[in-house]
Amino acid sequence: MAQDHVYINGKWYKGEGEKRAVINPSNEEVIIEINEASQQQTVEAIQAARHAFQYTDWPSNPARRMAVLRQLADLLEQNAETFAAIETLNTGKPIRESRLDVSDSIQCLRYYADFVEQRTIEEKKRTDGTTSKVIEEPIGVCALIVPWNFPLLLGIWKLAPALAAGNTVVFKPSELTPLSFIELTKLIDSIGLPPGVFNLVLGSGSPVGETLVTHPDVEKISFTGGTKTGRWIYEQCARGLKRVSLELGGKSPLLIFDDADLTSTVEWALFASFFNQGEVCVAASRILVQRRVYNSLIDQLTQRLASLRIGDPFAENTEMGPLISSSHLEKVETYIQIGLQEGAVLLQGGERIKERGYYLTPAVFAHVRQDMRIVQEEIFGPVITLQPFEHDNEAIGLANETIYGLAAGIFSRNLERAEQIAGKLRAGTIWINSYHTPYVDAPWGGMKQSGIGRELGPQGFAAFTETKHVNISQ
Ligand code: NAD
Repeated sequence: MAQDHVYINGKWYKGEGEKRAVINPSNEEVIIEINEASQQQTVEAIQAARHAFQYTDWPSNPARRMAVLRQLADLLEQNAETFAAIETLNTGKPIRESRLDVSDSIQCLRYYADFVEQRTIEEKKRTDGTTSKVIEEPIGVCALIVPWNFPLLLGIWKLAPALAAGNTVVFKPSELTPLSFIELTKLIDSIGLPPGVFNLVLGSGSPVGETLVTHPDVEKISFTGGTKTGRWIYEQCARGLKRVSLELGGKSPLLIFDDADLTSTVEWALFASFFNQGEVCVAASRILVQRRVYNSLIDQLTQRLASLRIGDPFAENTEMGPLISSSHLEKVETYIQIGLQEGAVLLQGGERIKERGYYLTPAVFAHVRQDMRIVQEEIFGPVITLQPFEHDNEAIGLANETIYGLAAGIFSRNLERAEQIAGKLRAGTIWINSYHTPYVDAPWGGMKQSGIGRELGPQGFAAFTETKHVNISQ
């Protein structure tokens, strides 16, 4: 059982695919060796989900779905500290942040449980004597594929609405961070869902992810990850006209105007840029600052950064942990070299600070140009660029000149002006005088190449439904 990490049709199996060591990024030690799913097991998981969709009452029993989601939320709450510890062990994120992920996950499960209760079927009597009913139905078998930066939370963002709407699921965590979903699957198993409603397959893009994307019995792909992978998945889905939701990369700007309260703005900027080591799709990686306060902002920001507490993610006062893996650390370092080669000035950071663990100090670049790769490409780590601007239109232009459109932040005391600027920014989420908070009832997703569709809120539920019109004559 200890070696059985693949969950198909209500039973645990030993994976017959690759063997992979799961690494603790804070000390580079092996936490556990996982036997991942084979292609054949992935197909079996899809078949189990198809069978459960067709032959159990799951899709047609909202009361049961509601009860299951509420029970899962309660179980997660009872085990919250264990889940936070697992998440920190596996990702290296500070324990305080893992606790937030767990409580946000619980909230999301409860939100979609309540949402099921509130769904009504639209019914209309027509003048021709017929009655029309508009019904929201589940799509079928959904493959849920998530990345490593918020393994539990991003998984729940998909799982809760998918199950609430009555779909059956094959879930694939990132190969780097499977631990919290293995643990969650144990909770799901203890609730006793109809076999096949939820299946867990572990593994990387090939063969497990690709099998999920291309198998004809999977009717919906809900993917969070890199834009390059998302583009490939979108192409595959086009072939079978599969439903698809894509939550992809970003290069989000933070616009700081000269009427902002600088001291609190600096704290927000640090949080916006370096929360979760900067490994956040919406991380504010481009800081645009109005010229009059540019130099004082740089002074305050760099001073505060020098005292940032980087280290043991289990220590209560740690503000930043290690990056996820050695290869990701190398990728981020390569971008720092690219920035230097492009002629940007590294004001601070970008150094490894421990012998063991993938720690990197936050890197701040100034004197950058809009066409530099470090300004245009997603680095997905603790690297930011600073750019001055003179007036609103220049800020809007700089903010929008990227292929991405995930999020943006605006700091100004003039809310009217800030809202006007928010209206011009091409991004799915805009925070004015704050950053990062996801609200479970508000949509989350990207414009442009940051994605297709929205998660959370009613939109996140609709993404897992089909609409059917039934017209009834006497
Ligand atoms: P990734 O695209 O490499 O992998 C994401 C997931 O897809 C993993 O589970 C991976 O195993 C799987 N995968 C990889 N290739 C696949 C394929 N060909 N078919 C099917 N599945 C495949 O991304 P990552 O490095 O794990 O995550 C970082 C990226 O995720 C960043 O670009 C970040 O911006 C993005 N992200 C977006 C959001 C959002 O809400 N928009 C949130 C978090 C992360």
